[in-house]
Amino acid sequence: MLDPKTRRPISAEDLSRLFSQACSEQELNTVDRWIDIPEPVREKYSYWRCTPLVRAYGLEEALSTPAHIYFKNESVSPIGSHKLNSAIPQAYYCSREGVTNITTETGAGQWGAALSYAAGVFGLECAVYQVKISYEQKPYRRSIMQVFGAQVTPSPSMSTRAGKDIITACPNHQGSLGTAISEAVELATTTPNCKYTLGSVMNHVALHQTVIGLEAEKQMALAGEYPDIVIACFGGGSNFGGIVFPFLRHTLADGVRTRYIAAEPASCPKLTRGEFRYDYGDASGYTPLIPMYTLGHDFQPANIHAGGLRYHGAGSIVSELLKQELIEAVDIRQLDSFRAGCLFAKTEGIIPAPESCHAIAAAVDEALKCRENHEKKVILFNLSGHGLVDMSAYDQYISGSMNNTGE
Ligand SMILES: *Cc1c(COP(=O)(O)O)cnc(C)c1O
Repeated sequence: MLDPKTRRPISAEDLSRLFSQACSEQELNTVDRWIDIPEPVREKYSYWRCTPLVRAYGLEEALSTPAHIYFKNESVSPIGSHKLNSAIPQAYYCSREGVTNITTETGAGQWGAALSYAAGVFGLECAVYQVKISYEQKPYRRSIMQVFGAQVTPSPSMSTRAGKDIITACPNHQGSLGTAISEAVELATTTPNCKYTLGSVMNHVALHQTVIGLEAEKQMALAGEYPDIVIACFGGGSNFGGIVFPFLRHTLADGVRTRYIAAEPASCPKLTRGEFRYDYGDASGYTPLIPMYTLGHDFQPANIHAGGLRYHGAGSIVSELLKQELIEAVDIRQLDSFRAGCLFAKTEGIIPAPESCHAIAAAVDEALKCRENHEKKVILFNLSGHGLVDMSAYDQYISGSMNNTGE
């Protein structure tokens, strides 16, 4: 990663102006094979972890596939998604370092909700900038954040210089994760004892999420199986890295042949159609320059319902893995994602988040290939969250008014 001003490699000290000291060090750590989960974090995890690993018998039957389909159910967390796996340690490290306020951006509201809850758990104040279109389209997520005690502002807003600049240039800007990041970063760098947090893209976030794959590995062993294919939806790469990296280490160390598939929206295709180069993590160029697959930091994604996947870039580890062809990526159209999501809901009894529907659609595609080729593969996908706060999106799908925006 490079400093945006000097274009020199960034240090943990540079990063710690934005992030907690612990996360800054984790971000650049190339030495330790294992980083222990602190005891107070394990204690908070125990409220909902270990999450279930479920064999999707109903879905298998509906597809008449010989494949065995498993999913790791991260939707059972207090806020309904995997995001809390990183919010809890990030808030914990901040509180341990004497930080009193934390801030962040949020798209669909999942990360904001996770951080709001985690901040409360460790006695911190939390300010969230929410992408304006999501703030308006998904009012209940805003309410969830407010119930947990956070202050929520739609982005772009007039409360920061970055927000004012964006509104001046483009008065009807609907907001993106990029604009919201710029505002939160500005607040953190201009307020004493305030740190910024990110819910995706960064290496330390993917590190915290590996608890998903580490548990899944043990659970698959209990079931007496090992995945041939591991699938996750892809926004910035945290739930993908979380479930994939623990399995991928066996591919790297022992040559275990497993396929890893990232499922991204066709309207925001950084992995399948982006470019590998240095780019900013945000719209205004405040964050470090990150080597990544990107659509350009000024890319304005279409207003698809999978708000958590509306991000221009991909985390650097995942980007490098894709470049080296150790992982694959597929793009999924919005209508196809909801079709798969509804089939999953009917057969497994869980209404998936619009983001997770992309992973389900990719898993269904692979299971159907197994049917055609009479192959009994083991497919594991991550159910990153539930969709119970996204029912207006399902309403649109069912009424036929949804389209394949921006593809
Ligand atoms: C945020 C989110 C995602 C996408 O983020 P990643 O960092 O790519 O995991 C996926 N699913 C859900 C439910 C989310 O909230």
